[in-house]
Amino acid sequence: MFFDPLYLLFMVPGFLLAAITALVVRTRFSRFEKVPLRSGLSGAEVAREILRRQGLSGVSIEVHEGFLSDHYDPTERVVRLSPKVYHGRSVAAAAVAAHEVGHAIQHAKAYGPMALRTASVPAANIGSSLSWILIFVGFIFQSFNLAVAGVALFGLVVFFQVITIPVEFNASTRAKAAVMEYGLVTVSEERDISKMLSAAALTYVAALVVALLQLVYFLIRLGLLGGSRND
Ligand SMILES: [Zn+2]
Repeated sequence: MFFDPLYLLFMVPGFLLAAITALVVRTRFSRFEKVPLRSGLSGAEVAREILRRQGLSGVSIEVHEGFLSDHYDPTERVVRLSPKVYHGRSVAAAAVAAHEVGHAIQHAKAYGPMALRTASVPAANIGSSLSWILIFVGFIFQSFNLAVAGVALFGLVVFFQVITIPVEFNASTRAKAAVMEYGLVTVSEERDISKMLSAAALTYVAALVVALLQLVYFLIRLGLLGGSRND
């Protein structure tokens, strides 16, 4: 299994796709980082304004170290923005800040897929660590059942990646609607924000493709899909 050409055949395209999408996100971010927002608002100010207009006074905004480390924390109800997004007065900063607030709105409105995603975090964490151990031990000791249990646990990871897709696209849709409705950006800025956010969403699609390829590889190796079980 370790120097399996079939593994490379499955994983190389996936990792290439992930690397390319990461590059596209970085390129788009640095491009739109140079486009100043007409309103002069910073990412943090855009976030605060959307939260205010949505009546979400319980959600706070914090600066968080790292490059594109931006996220919404539903347990503490905090929108954490990276320094470039928090302080930046650019189209890129507004796009990312509004997207993260989109998650806060999903949370406040009990958007189903987001609740499901949050609830499946522990299962996905267990799945991502334990699945590899079970699959590894299963292959070493030629235990089919153990390997199948490992692959089933890996399925939890895939499920998490699947449910992430609608959550991410929906957060971007809410973000774009909010910045337009509240007059925080111009029509052409909204178009650029859309380009920035669709690049960011590709990251999650790539992660899902990688996980799916991995799953298909396991299923083929176990003889549950296509060829025969021969390892
Ligand atoms: Zn997101």
